[in-house]
Amino acid sequence: EAAHAAKPVAWFDGALVEGDTLQAGLTTHALHYGSGVFEGIRAYATETGAAVFRLPEHLERMRRGAGMFALPFDPALATEAVLATLRANRHRDAYIRPLAWFGEGSFGLDVEGHVPHMMVATTATQVHLNGTRARLGVSRWRRNPADSLPPLKLCGGYVNSILAKREAKARGFDEALFTDRDGNVVECTGANVFLVKDGRVTAVEHRDALPGITRDTLIELTGAQSRAVTLAELLDADEVFACGTAAEVAPVAQIEDREYGDNPVTRELQALYGRVVRGQEAAHRHWLTEV
Ligand code: PMP
Repeated sequence: EAAHAAKPVAWFDGALVEGDTLQAGLTTHALHYGSGVFEGIRAYATETGAAVFRLPEHLERMRRGAGMFALPFDPALATEAVLATLRANRHRDAYIRPLAWFGEGSFGLDVEGHVPHMMVATTATQVHLNGTRARLGVSRWRRNPADSLPPLKLCGGYVNSILAKREAKARGFDEALFTDRDGNVVECTGANVFLVKDGRVTAVEHRDALPGITRDTLIELTGAQSRAVTLAELLDADEVFACGTAAEVAPVAQIEDREYGDNPVTRELQALYGRVVRGQEAAHRHWLTEV
């Protein structure tokens, strides 16, 4: 068992600092207007030590998000920041949260004149072998439409997820499922959606959904078809699962009053994903960056 650093360490604007001391000023532009971009990344214990799963892909998505509003972002620097933070905290299984944002300045909307910042924080994650089966409520809130807000990990955009999650929980569900006005499935508040029908795996595709890296991983692993799916088709499926960096592969037990039974294909994929992220599948070790 690895020893833990006495105090959590975070990376902030070029240096490792005590995580507990991190602060942002009250005129922080991102605090007022959501002008930040973040990632959710994981590291896993492998035979050769801790490794980060698909780090370049996460940082490339972050770079695209930052580029939407001219926020400076250097993936090479962010890579070093992530690895340095993991090493300092002696993490093996960890959740990694990089955040870049516009800080102090005037109360104006223009980002010019505001100070750009970046931080990386990491927390140890528990290894849970059989995650719970999620119960989804169909959200009354629509997903941010891509022609209003690009589906990237922009801080302000997550108010949409907060609203949907609150509504789903108030109705007794664990998580919200977004659909569009035409009855197509979009995604969950922090995970993409797949279905299994007659043994065939299908990835839900929608322009308003975040291009998930776990989704991409599972498509590559299974050869799943990616296409538009209606809510009616999802309700008619044999199995449904959500997927994301934090959720990994999460079987769905229920959508509104439709209950799903056993989920053998999902469980198989869950196990396969677990081996891939831990470097136990030789063909996919290129997805890991050693810490
Ligand atoms: N959709 C949303 C809205 C998310 O926040 C996330 C988590 N990043 C996902 C899907 C899953 O994406 P990924 O597999 O890249 O974590």
